[in-house]
Amino acid sequence: MPLQSGLKPFCALPMHILAYHAGLIDGPDYAQNDHVALREDLEVIAHLGLRVLPLQTVVDALLGRRDWSTLDGAVALTCDDGTAFDALPGREYGAHGPQPSLLGVLQAWIDEDPASRSQASLTSFLIASPEARAAMDRHCLFDRNDLDSDWWAAAQGTGHMVFGNHSWDHNHPILPPEEALPLSRGDFFAVDDEAKADYEIAQAQAFLAEALGQRPTCFAYPFGHVPEFLRSTYLPRRGPELGLEAAFTTETGRVRPDSDRWALPRSVCRWHWKSPAELEALLTAD
Ligand SMILES: [Zn+2]
Repeated sequence: MPLQSGLKPFCALPMHILAYHAGLIDGPDYAQNDHVALREDLEVIAHLGLRVLPLQTVVDALLGRRDWSTLDGAVALTCDDGTAFDALPGREYGAHGPQPSLLGVLQAWIDEDPASRSQASLTSFLIASPEARAAMDRHCLFDRNDLDSDWWAAAQGTGHMVFGNHSWDHNHPILPPEEALPLSRGDFFAVDDEAKADYEIAQAQAFLAEALGQRPTCFAYPFGHVPEFLRSTYLPRRGPELGLEAAFTTETGRVRPDSDRWALPRSVCRWHWKSPAELEALLTAD
């Protein structure tokens, strides 16, 4: 793979990153269910002649490890919050019944044309804290261990799922105050100094590295909230020593060679597009 010089490439080919939520299901239709949406979106991607490449490829391009031209006609897929609905097929989602899982949908799409789709993967951003996951499972899901970690290793072993860091506990509103920190809950903008950043990001990196056998390279901001302290100070300074190479928002747009790697855009299903036609418009617009 040719390395870029220090100059920005003259003709850059920017890339879209799409985000899904497997654990937020309101019904059986595209506009209510990201499992259904991903299945149809992959047909849009194939129809447009696009490829699905690992999220790391765009990070590598930003860091000069691969040429931007290798991302020509590619998109990357991500999902947030790390529920078992990301990867375990047939899992019951309350009254909405069994779901195929995002990884199951992707795997079926790969199996239709493995010769051209075998590189496809989905990056799942995990919440690290076991106690926070257990509390969210009780309060936000069905108290049926949908936020356990027991599926992580098998999903990683498929070669089509990669894990990222989605913070220690999402600073989720259902969690009790953290006694050691003056951290108000329910808002990731509250993570605005070194101690809070170490609690939410460094602590999660250490836990996930141990659990996964490798350090995640990507971080996704909970709620899409991007605290200025994290983007401009903490992640540029501490990120590399923690093993982090990029951070992702929920602002729509294409990643470009001059994008800030600590605030990269991602378009969110059911927010930035709500139908296959809207996704096609998003992916073909400049
Ligand atoms: Zn989240």
